[in-house]
Amino acid sequence: MPDVLIVEDEPEIAELIEFHLGREGLRSDIVHSGRIALEKASANPPDLVVLDLMLPDLDGFEICRRLKSNVDTKDVPVIMVTAKSDDTDVITGIELGADDYVVKPFSPKVLVARVKNALRRTQRTVASNERLAKRWTRADGRLLIDVERHVVEIDGNPIDLTLTEFSLLRHLASKPGYVRSRDQIIAAVHGRSTILSSRTVDVHVTAVRRKLGELGTLIETVRGVGYRFSAPAGEVT
Ligand code: CA
Repeated sequence: MPDVLIVEDEPEIAELIEFHLGREGLRSDIVHSGRIALEKASANPPDLVVLDLMLPDLDGFEICRRLKSNVDTKDVPVIMVTAKSDDTDVITGIELGADDYVVKPFSPKVLVARVKNALRRTQRTVASNERLAKRWTRADGRLLIDVERHVVEIDGNPIDLTLTEFSLLRHLASKPGYVRSRDQIIAAVHGRSTILSSRTVDVHVTAVRRKLGELGTLIETVRGVGYRFSAPAGEVT
């Protein structure tokens, strides 16, 4: 049974979320503080985190950043709960590795649907990564994508990508020279979910480019269509 960690300082909201997740057979723990959330998550990583952004000690962005930079919790999906539908908040959260968000006041049914979707996506992504395990090296040897070890290296140095960023890069690199539309990328990275928007894809691409440094230019924008991985033929080993 999946374990959900609910990080929310308002007890009524936390209990409401717990109640609705419980009806769907999802077990949850509630914590009211960011510090306790981080301690708990790293001691015993949950299957998913529902994270309120406004907390008394650490804010949700900082918690998300720390979860995603800890090797034990970086692949745990995070659903942010934001108080306002401010694009800046949403983009900041996604750049920090959050997987989805709901805006307060939210319908518990919508939140539950997003939680279930995120859990399914994680399982599917992990499963497909396992099925297609291989190592891919760019012809000049500078970029390595090792699906089995879930590692990306540039000139031998590991690059830290979230699960979504890794899946996105792997998908683009698997079709060098071919334009992939945003919808194709969404389908490949997250299955048939309609939750990821085109804008979210753009944000993830921006994050991957930044992490790839000068090799970020390998991901080309194709105006009005999507993206293309411009690497020359690589070698699969
Ligand atoms: Ca709060």
